[in-house]
Amino acid sequence: MKEFNTEQSVIMVESKEKYIPNIDNILINKYCINYKDRAWIEVNMDNLKYNIKTFQKILPEQCSIMAVVKANAYGHGSIQVSRMLNNVGVYDFAVATIDEGIKLRTAGIKGNILILGYTSPNRIGQLINFDLSQTVVDIEHALNLDDLGKTLKVHIKINTGMNRLGENYFNLSEIEKIFSCKNFKIQGIFTHLSVADSNEKKDVEYTKNQINKFYSLIEQLKYKNIKIPKIHIQSSYGVLNYPNIKCDYARLGIAIYGVLSHENCIVEPYLDLKPVLMLKSRIALIRTINYQESIGYGNQYISPRISKIAVVSIGYGDGYPRSLSGNSEVLLNGCRVPIIGRICMDQMMIDITDIRSVKRGDIVTLIGSQGNEIISAEELSLKAKTITNELLCRLSQRLERIYIY
Ligand SMILES: *Cc1c(COP(=O)(O)O)cnc(C)c1O
Repeated sequence: MKEFNTEQSVIMVESKEKYIPNIDNILINKYCINYKDRAWIEVNMDNLKYNIKTFQKILPEQCSIMAVVKANAYGHGSIQVSRMLNNVGVYDFAVATIDEGIKLRTAGIKGNILILGYTSPNRIGQLINFDLSQTVVDIEHALNLDDLGKTLKVHIKINTGMNRLGENYFNLSEIEKIFSCKNFKIQGIFTHLSVADSNEKKDVEYTKNQINKFYSLIEQLKYKNIKIPKIHIQSSYGVLNYPNIKCDYARLGIAIYGVLSHENCIVEPYLDLKPVLMLKSRIALIRTINYQESIGYGNQYISPRISKIAVVSIGYGDGYPRSLSGNSEVLLNGCRVPIIGRICMDQMMIDITDIRSVKRGDIVTLIGSQGNEIISAEELSLKAKTITNELLCRLSQRLERIYIY
């Protein structure tokens, strides 16, 4: 289904010309007044749809996707992403905060929205008015919410070894008390795995142990005649590495955006997911500098030859990590080109000495592909000593998101 929002989206069509000097040449919808000339994100909705369909195929029949769209859908834009997911039959969402949930509801997103984080009982009115489901993070949180005497949708979080949120799995009587809270509509009970992304033996043991603790709690609750609501355990790596456990939901975050958290993790079964996000900018200026001239703040880079350099209109103020200074590349005319000097807040410099026919306004791809070259979010986050989750969700509001359908 196509959506047109002249402010946020454009249709882009690959040029049919035979010779395309800049392979990113695109025809922009003439109605799009907001043509991007500085730096922007392109969100490929077909790839998002493809990833969702891939998971819908491999998940066990009774298991639905709970799409995790916290932190602005990992930088992709939570409203547009959630609308698309509604269109492909996803009606369960998870966010981190009540305000993220309110934002989705206000935008007309349908289905269940679970808040994964702690919400103060002070805000119970909004939880109810916006029809949000709240995670109960421990017994005390439960009693405080229940005491307010208002009917509230909740999922009960159980701690099985992550030691973040959740009532401890061994506190059976506390968990029973949560189930007997009069004002709760209990929709789910869940836990979170802490090392599901690792295939090291001790981590696999740890994960299996977490899973077993959770299921044995469920058995004990059943034995006490407690009606078991929907259960969920896995996030992306839980599904990728432990696909066969029986759940009603899989809380999928990073994987639906088509990337892995880090480059070097092996997952079973191998899924061919497609990256959804590209990060692009344009060349603002080209200059030639002499042998042994310095470039940028701190005069950190000294040219080893007469060089042609280009200024690119993107920097750490857009969320491109400054720690990638001197340690990373961008794509230009289908080639890898090094970033030189320190990355600035709004700009960076690249060495284009070896690239032909570059001109002002040419598109530079920082995450994504040009021709046969690709710079993945995994590659960048490895170089920046972080994970793709952080890299993507820190891409700033200053970058406009363009949705390609
Ligand atoms: C963020 C989060 C997820 C999603 O994790 P991914 O690894 O991105 O799939 C799932 N569950 C909880 C509790 C989370 O906080």
